[in-house]
Amino acid sequence: MVNWILKKLFGSKNQRELRRMAPNVRRINEFDEQFKSLSDNALRAKTAAWKEELSKISDPEEQLRRLEQILPEAFAVVKNAARRLKERQDSFTVCDQPMTWDMVHFDVQLLGGMVLHRGRIAEMATGEGKTLVATLPLYLNALTGRGAHLVTVNDYLARRDAEWMGQLYTFLGLTVGCIQHDQEPDVRRQQYACDITYGTNSEFGFDYLRDNGMATSRELQVQRGYHFAIVDEVDSILIDEARTPLIISGPATISTHQYDKWKPLIEQLVRKQTMLCNRMASEAAEAFEKGDAELGGRLMFKVKLGQPRNKQLLRMMEDPDKRRAIDKAELSFYTDTRKEELFQLKEELFFTIDEKSNEADLSEQGRTFLNPDDPNAFVLPDLISEFTEIDLDTTLPDEEKDKKKSERQELCDSQAERIHNISNLLRAYCVFDKDVQYVVEDNKVVIVDEFTGRKMPGRRWSDGLHQAVEAKEGVQIDRETQTLATITIQNYFRLYQKLAGMTGTAETEAAEFHDIYKLDVNVIPTNRPVARKDANDRIYKTRREKYNAVINEIKEHHANQQPVLVGTVSVEASELVSRMLKREKIPHNVLNAKFHMQEAEIVQRAGQPGTVTISTNMAGRGTDIKLGAGVADKGGLSVIGTERHEARRIDRQLRGRCARQGDPGASRFYVSFEDDLMRNFGAADRMTKIMERFGLEEGQELEHRWLNKSVETAQKRVEQRNYLIRKRTLDFDDVMNMQREVVYTWRNDVIDTEDPRAEIFEVIDEAVPNKVKEYLEGEEPNYAGLMNWVNVTFPLGLNKERAQFETRSVEENAKFLIEKIKDAYQRKSNHEEPTAVKSLERYIILNAIDRLWQEHLYAMDALREGVYLRGYAQKDPLIEYKTEAYDMFVELMANIKNEVLHNLFRSTTNLRAFEDFLGSLPQFLLREDAPGAPTANAPVRARQPAMAGVAMDGDGDGAGEVSIDLPVRRSLPKVGRNEPCPCGSGKKYKNCCGRTA
Ligand code: ADP
Repeated sequence: MVNWILKKLFGSKNQRELRRMAPNVRRINEFDEQFKSLSDNALRAKTAAWKEELSKISDPEEQLRRLEQILPEAFAVVKNAARRLKERQDSFTVCDQPMTWDMVHFDVQLLGGMVLHRGRIAEMATGEGKTLVATLPLYLNALTGRGAHLVTVNDYLARRDAEWMGQLYTFLGLTVGCIQHDQEPDVRRQQYACDITYGTNSEFGFDYLRDNGMATSRELQVQRGYHFAIVDEVDSILIDEARTPLIISGPATISTHQYDKWKPLIEQLVRKQTMLCNRMASEAAEAFEKGDAELGGRLMFKVKLGQPRNKQLLRMMEDPDKRRAIDKAELSFYTDTRKEELFQLKEELFFTIDEKSNEADLSEQGRTFLNPDDPNAFVLPDLISEFTEIDLDTTLPDEEKDKKKSERQELCDSQAERIHNISNLLRAYCVFDKDVQYVVEDNKVVIVDEFTGRKMPGRRWSDGLHQAVEAKEGVQIDRETQTLATITIQNYFRLYQKLAGMTGTAETEAAEFHDIYKLDVNVIPTNRPVARKDANDRIYKTRREKYNAVINEIKEHHANQQPVLVGTVSVEASELVSRMLKREKIPHNVLNAKFHMQEAEIVQRAGQPGTVTISTNMAGRGTDIKLGAGVADKGGLSVIGTERHEARRIDRQLRGRCARQGDPGASRFYVSFEDDLMRNFGAADRMTKIMERFGLEEGQELEHRWLNKSVETAQKRVEQRNYLIRKRTLDFDDVMNMQREVVYTWRNDVIDTEDPRAEIFEVIDEAVPNKVKEYLEGEEPNYAGLMNWVNVTFPLGLNKERAQFETRSVEENAKFLIEKIKDAYQRKSNHEEPTAVKSLERYIILNAIDRLWQEHLYAMDALREGVYLRGYAQKDPLIEYKTEAYDMFVELMANIKNEVLHNLFRSTTNLRAFEDFLGSLPQFLLREDAPGAPTANAPVRARQPAMAGVAMDGDGDGAGEVSIDLPVRRSLPKVGRNEPCPCGSGKKYKNCCGRTA
C-alpha cells in the first residue's frame, strides 16, 4: 500500500510534504506488528505511562516535542486497538443502533492523522473515513491531559461519533465526552473534563461566551482551556459560517424602529415601481419590434436597475438579440464618462436595487413620494460643514453654538434612522424572497442558510433587517435585541493553541485558510483510485428547459434502477424538483435539512437501487452513502446538480457524494442562463454570442468542455468577492476581538485570584492619579472640584486644612489620596466577614465590567453602522472604526475603574458591618441633622441607590467642615436566605454573603 502511495507522491509541494511523512507510516505499521503479541492490558498500560510522563512536563512546547517523538508508537497503539476491536466483533450501540467494529486504519488514514496532528487541514474525499482518521491525533494529543476537542457540524454527529469512536478510546483507557444542546452546566463540565470531547462549533462557542462573559465564578465555568481542536467540515465552519457571529442577546432597552409606520407607503412605492417597470418593458418590446435595439436595450437596463427579477426582463434575456442589446446598454453606462447619465437614468425610477450588494437606494422621485412636503427628510445633512459654519459665526456665544450643534446632530440621527428603516424595507420587499432566503413559520420569520438550506431558528439578520422582513410578512415584529456577548466562530477557533481541520474540499480555498487562519492544506490521496465520471455541464437558455432536462435524466436512471442524488442550491428549487417528480409519479425523498438524525438515515439509504433523493447542498452531511446490492453494476450512484453554486467547493462536495472508496459513480451539473450565478456574474456578453452562434432552439442544450470553463470563471469571480467580504467582516471583528480578549482576561483574573483586594487596589492605583490629573493639570488647578469628587466617592471627610492639595505636586497629591483611600478601605473591610468580603470585592469589579462592557457592545454596534454613513464622506470606514473603537475602549476601561471606585464604599456584605464601619468614622462626619445620615447609635437604614450628596458648610468652597450623606447602595438586593447568593458564588445566600447578616 505504501508503495502505491509513494508512486503517486512526486513533484508538487503537497506531494513532497506527504512523502516526508511516509517513513512514519512504515514505522507505525512496524510497531503495530510488534504490538500484536501484547495483552490488552499491556497495550492499555501505554496510555497511562505516557499520560504520567507528559503530566510532568509543564512547558506546552516541550510537551509537543515529546508528542512528536512518540507519534509513531502512539498511532500504532490506536491502530492495534482498532484491530483488536474488529477481531472481537463485540456488539455495542451507537445512537441506539446496534453495531460492530469493522475498521482498521488504512495507510492513507495514518497520513491524514499526521497532517491533523501538525495543525493542518487534511483534505480527504468523502467516504475516506475522516471520523476514524481523527482518532489518531485525538488520542495522541489527549495524552497531555489538557483536553482534545473534535468539532462536528451537528449534535447528532457529535453524539454518533463520540459513541462510535468512544469504543476505541475507552478500550485504551481514555475518557470521552460529548456536548449536546440541552445539557445543563454540570453535565457540560463533566464532558469537558474528559480526555476527548466531541461537540458542535456553536456549542463550543456559546460555552466560551457564557464562561467568559457571564459566569461569575470558576465553579460556574464549564470549559477548561483551548489546547487542541480538530474541526470537521472545516470549510463549512470557517468559510461558510464566517458571516454570522454567535451572539447571546437580551432585549434592547429602547426600540426606535418605525417599520409599521412606513410599511403601507413602501408597499405602494414598490407597486408603483412594478407598474413603471412593466410599462417600460412593454415600450421596450415595441422598440425592439420596430428594430430600435438601442432604445429597447436602454429601457430594459432601466428595468434591470429597478426590478432585477422582472418577469418580462427574464424572458427577454432568453433572446440573444435582446440580451445583447441590454448587456450593451448596461456596459456603456458603466463607463466613467456616462456617470452623470446613469445618475439621470436612476432618477427616472423610484428606487434602484443592487442585487449583488443587497442594497436599495431611493431616488428623488421616491423620496418625494414618501414625504411630499419635505423630500430632504431622506437626505443626511452635511454635519461637518454645518458645524464649521456654526463655529465661524462670531455673533454666537459658545453655549449657543453647542446647543445648535447638538440640535443638528439630533436631526441627523433621526434622519439616519428613517433612511435606514426605509432602505431595510425596500430590501425586504425587493431582494428577499419568502421560501428562498427565509420561511414564515408559527408567525415568525426564520432564516434559511443559503449554503445548507437549513432553517436557522433563533438567528436574526442584524441592523433591523429582520424586523423589516417581519413587517413585510405581517408577523409579530420582535423587539430589537441587545448584544450581551458575541464572537465569530473564527475567533473562537483562533483561541486554540493548535487547530486542525478536515474536509473533502479545501483546496479551492487554500489561500484563504493560509492567510487568515495560518492553516495549510494537505491533500491526502484516496485509499483506492477514484472511478467517478464527471460529465460536462449541460447549459440551457431557461430554467424551465433545464428542469425538464433534469427530470428526464432522473427518469432514465430510475427506469434502470440506478440510484440518483439530486443536489439543489435552495429549498425552493428542491421543492420544485419534488413537484415535477410527483407529476411523473416517481417516488423520492426530499431532504430539507431539518432533522439531523432522520436526515442521516435517508442519506444512508440513498445508494439503494432505484432510490431518488433530493437534497439541498449540505443536508445530511457527514453521512456516507454506501451502494446497495447490484448498484455498482449499474454505474453506481448518479449525482445531478440542478444549478452551479456560487462556490466551486460546494459543487465539489456534491460530486464527492458518489464514488466513495473506489466505487463507480457519475456526476453532472445543469445550468441555465437564468440562474442567479449566470445572470450576475456570467460573462454575459460571451454567453450571448454563444447563443447567437448556435441559435438555440427550445429545449436544446449546449455542452462543451470550454463552457465549463466560463461557468468556472463566473464562480471564481464570486468566490473572490465573497472572500473580500469575509475578510472585511473579520477585519472589523478583529478590533472587537482584541478588546474582548483584554476584558475577558481581566474578568478571569478577578474570578481566579485568591486576593481580589489586590485587584481593587490596582484599580485605585490607576484610576485615582487619572482623576487627580483631570482636576489639577488644566490651566487652573481645580482644587475644589477634586475635593468634591473625593468626598462624594470616598468617606474621607477631607477639608481644605486636612487636604492641603496646594502644597503638593500632582503626583504627590495622587499618592496622598491613594494612601488615604486604601487605609479607609482596609478599615471598612475589617468590619466585614473575611470570606464574604472576597466575594464582594469580586462582585464589585465583575459587576462594573459586565454592565459597562454590554453598554460598550451596544455602542460598538452603533459605531459599526455609523461608520458606513461616513463612507459617503470618502473616508475608509474600517480606519474610522478602528480609531473610534480605540477611543471608546480607553473610555470604557476608565469608566469601569471609576465605577469600581464609586461602589467601593457603597457595598457591604451585611448591614451590621456597615453600621460598625460608620460608627468608627470620626464623629464630625456624622451629623444628626444631615437628612438620612446615620448616627453612631442609630441603625443604618438601607435605602434605594441615590446620588451621594455633599453638604458644605462655611463659604461653600469646600473650606469648611464637610459632612457626608453617604447613601447605602444596596449592591446586594434583598434576597431570601435560601436563594442563590447575588454575588454569583453559586452558594445559598445564608451560606455566603448573608452568613453574618
Ligand atoms: P468521511 O467523513 O471521510 O466521508 P466517514 O468517516 O463517514 O467518511 O466513513 C465512511 C465509511 O467508511 C464509514 O462507513 C466507515 O465505516 C468506513 N471506513 C472508514 N475507514 C475504514 C477502514 N479503515 N476500514 C473499513 N471501513 C472504513
